[in-house]
This record gives sequence, structure tokens and C-alpha cells, in this order.
Amino acid sequence: MNFSDLGLNKQLLTAIEKAKYTKPYPIQIEAIPAFLNRKDILGIAPTGSGKTASYILPILQLLQGKKEHRSRNIPVLVLVPTRELAAQVAQVADNFSRFLERRIKTLAVFGGVSINPQMMKLNGTDILVATPGRLLDLLSKNALSISDVEILVLDEMDKVLNMGFREEVDQILADIPKNRQTILFSATQDETLEEVISSLLKDPKRISV
Ligand code: AMP
Repeated sequence: MNFSDLGLNKQLLTAIEKAKYTKPYPIQIEAIPAFLNRKDILGIAPTGSGKTASYILPILQLLQGKKEHRSRNIPVLVLVPTRELAAQVAQVADNFSRFLERRIKTLAVFGGVSINPQMMKLNGTDILVATPGRLLDLLSKNALSISDVEILVLDEMDKVLNMGFREEVDQILADIPKNRQTILFSATQDETLEEVISSLLKDPKRISV
């Protein structure tokens, strides 16, 4: 199995080659075609499995079919537990965006740093990578809208829940349209997660690596 068998376009295949990814990892083989077919996905996958590329690559491909915009209406939201992961995911997105014709703007927002510089950068954002608390702060200041989100990724959801962000996540979800596509990754699976899964995902493709 090669990256060229997964339904990704030429520009992305070039970016993948430049990143020196020679073969897709199992999570990527399973997730990328399903994501491009607009399925909800539940991925039980630890860090190091290649989960980030398994959702960033299809996101970039799907965004290329959309017009560039200057608004604060975010089409793709990635929720993560920590600022480190937020920065890391945004970097992966920027790295794979370099060879695309359509400019893709990714922005990471997280707490522990001042909010104003983040607010000033929101215009035209395609992919917002956010920690729950900071996203709620931004929403309370009307700095952006998530009412047109088409793709929602919940990464390291077990960690998000363990860190006590359940309520924040519920508040955020209340603002996102129900007909979005939802992708959820977790390193572990337990009853709390199952409950979250059944309320958030529609007939998801289940992948475990
Ligand atoms: P992640 O699980 O997303 O944090 O990825 C773990 C590491 O694997 C990162 O350093 C990625 O750059 C790398 N990686 C992801 N997919 C591939 C691949 N198909 N081939 C080689 N390296 C990869």
C-alpha cells in the first residue's frame, strides 16, 4: 500500500514525499480514504502512530475545494488538550501545505500566553487548532464563529477528559452544527469515552492500531 492508493491529490503526494514519508502507517491507510469519503471516524491510536497526518492530509485536500476567505468563520476545528500538541499539529499542517495551490491558513490558539495577538490573527483561518479553555475565551469575546464548522477533530480525547475539560468541550460543541464530520482520536477506550463517542459520532468507522 502506498500513499498514492489513498485518494490524495498530486500536490499532497509531493508534500508527503518531501516530508520523507515513504509508506503510509496503518492508521493512515485506514483513516485517509474514510475521511475523504466524509465518514465519521473513531481512532484508538497512541502518539507515535502517525495519527496527526492521518487527519491533516484529508483536511488539506478537502479545504482545497473551498474558496479562500477573509472571515472569522472557521471551517475546520481541531481540539487538543495541550499547547504543545496545538503547536505541533499546526506545524504538521503548515509543513504539508507548502506545495498546495490554494493557500491554507492554520492557526494554533492556547492559554498561558496573551489572547490579543491570537485574536488579531484569526481572519481567514482555515484550520484552527485550539485548547478548549482558550477557544471558549475567544468565543466569549466574539472573536470568531464556529457555527459553520464542517470538520471537527477531537485529538487525544482521553487526555482532554482526564484534564477535566468535559464541560468546556460540551459548551464548544453546542455552537457547532450537528451535520459536521467528526473525527475522534484517543489513546485509550473506556466507559466515559464510549458515552462521549455515542453522543458525538454518527456511525463512525472504528480504527484501532
Ligand atoms: P504522530 O503519531 O502523528 O505524532 O506521528 C509520529 C511521528 O511519525 C511524527 O514524527 C511523524 O512525522 C512521523 N510519521 C507519521 N507518518 C509517517 C509515515 N507514513 N512515514 C514516516 N514517518 C511518519
